[in-house]
Amino acid sequence: MGPKIWLSAPHMGGNEQHYVNEAFQSNWVAPLGPNVDGLEQNIANYLGEGTHAAALSSGTAAIHLALILLGVGPGDEVICQSMTFSASANPIAYLGATPVFIDSEPETWNMSPAHLEEAIKDRIRLGKKPKAIIPVHLYGMPAHMPAILDIATRYEIPVLEDAAEALGSSINGVKCGTFGTISVLSFNGNKIITTSGGGALVAKEPRFTETARFLATQARDAAPHYQHSHIGYNYRMSNICAGIGRGQMEVLPQRVEQRRAVYQQYFNRYNGLPGVSFVAEPAGYYSNRWLTTITIDPALAGVTRETMRLALEAENIESRPLWKPMHLQPVFSDCPFYGNGCSELLFENGLCLPSSSSLSEGEMERIFHVLGKVFQHELTSVDGG
Ligand SMILES: *Cc1c(COP(=O)(O)O)cnc(C)c1O
Repeated sequence: MGPKIWLSAPHMGGNEQHYVNEAFQSNWVAPLGPNVDGLEQNIANYLGEGTHAAALSSGTAAIHLALILLGVGPGDEVICQSMTFSASANPIAYLGATPVFIDSEPETWNMSPAHLEEAIKDRIRLGKKPKAIIPVHLYGMPAHMPAILDIATRYEIPVLEDAAEALGSSINGVKCGTFGTISVLSFNGNKIITTSGGGALVAKEPRFTETARFLATQARDAAPHYQHSHIGYNYRMSNICAGIGRGQMEVLPQRVEQRRAVYQQYFNRYNGLPGVSFVAEPAGYYSNRWLTTITIDPALAGVTRETMRLALEAENIESRPLWKPMHLQPVFSDCPFYGNGCSELLFENGLCLPSSSSLSEGEMERIFHVLGKVFQHELTSVDGG
């Protein structure tokens, strides 16, 4: 059996160690310093649109602070995409608020605008207007932001954009991470670029990033002694981690190209097989293709996504079912949900394939060999005999 092939491995560019060494040499080994300032500047420059960024300890911390900045508190309701990683929804519960989950639509797999509006109307009818809307760009594919923003504007509800998986994605040239009243990025080890662990809060209004930094530094008031008028958090990014981030920002455009090339290889081989489908980019939409995902209709394909996953696992290759929707999670089973089964079906039939930007030709061959065996009867026609 060959060495492990990971779903999404960290991929250093080379300059990360230079910035980390600088931090050591200047003794900026702390949750502040020139790398933190530099990374925040890099992020804002990359995203454009007049954004500001606050580098934080994780994407989850960024979502938590964003909800606080949007005034979410005990007893409130927050609308959240159901099909996502639990980190999109957990901070709602940290604040004693209730998530209201929205189903996916089949084109992008993200928040269904129709079910979003249905939910808003119903929650208002029941006497509680939601405090925020959290759409997610799953696996890098942008959500239908024009429709979601239109609804959010009409009902005057702020959007907290969870762009944790979508740094480098865009709609008509406007980058993901700039659509929200507040937006959130993640630099966890498995994301398209990493700081080993970290995140950022992004906003066009500087008061949001300024207050985020304040709250993330234990909410210290301006005084020579420790003076506090607010509950604070320890959520700032370390200057060491930010050094890794600065190196990674230099290679972000390359990483997007590489992930898209991985997607293209899977697509070229397997698109068109009976029961196999990929997620296409709607016109104007650009995905960073953080993870390549496929769905398998067992009735047509003659195999299930689980057959594929286990065959890969037997060869030491990691793949993973799509995110299990939050409304199906035991911990959120009491929360309201608006939908029609789209995300459930995706979860049943979908698989994330190894998608690291560092995948070598030899590793791709190992993956194709296993998938070839799984799809044996169709393979002859795909390879042209
Ligand atoms: C990774 C991720 C997060 C959380 O980011 P961390 O940095 O791991 O805390 C939030 N939302 C989504 C959709 C993610 O994929």
